[in-house]
Amino acid sequence: MPPTDPQLPLSFARPRKKKGGLSVESYRELVGRLRADAARVAEQFKLPPYEFDADRTDAHERYGICYADGRIRVRLIHARTGRPLRYSALVDTVVHELAHLRHMNHGPRWEALYETMLAWCRAGQNWVMLAELGSNLASPD
Ligand SMILES: [Zn+2]
Repeated sequence: MPPTDPQLPLSFARPRKKKGGLSVESYRELVGRLRADAARVAEQFKLPPYEFDADRTDAHERYGICYADGRIRVRLIHARTGRPLRYSALVDTVVHELAHLRHMNHGPRWEALYETMLAWCRAGQNWVMLAELGSNLASPD
C-alpha cells in the first residue's frame, strides 16, 4: 500500500487554476495553521480526541462537518472563486465543529460551549498570528 498523508490531501488543492487561487504551498500552510489553532482550543477546553483535515472541495453545501468518530473536515476555499476563505471565518467553523466533539447537536449546551470557545479565541492572540498569515494567504479585501 502506498504511503498516504491523511493530513494533507493535496488532490483537494487546485493550485492557481483560478485568479487568486490557492497555491499548494499556501494550502499546506493554511491546513497546518488551522490544525495548530484547533489543537490550542482542544487543549484549553480538554476536548476529546479528533482528527482535523480539509474537506473535499466539492462539498459546497457546508463549511464544515464533525463525524461521530471525531473526524472534522473544514472547507478552506470559496466554492466559486477558489480563494481561501477569511481566516477568522475558518476559525469560526473549526470552533463550531470542535464544539460538536462534546455535543453532537446545536442545543443550548453546544451553543454555550461554542460561544465560550470562540470568545477565548478572540480574547487574546489565542490563535496563530494573523498578520503573518495575511501576507501569504489573505485576499486583499
Ligand atoms: Zn454544527
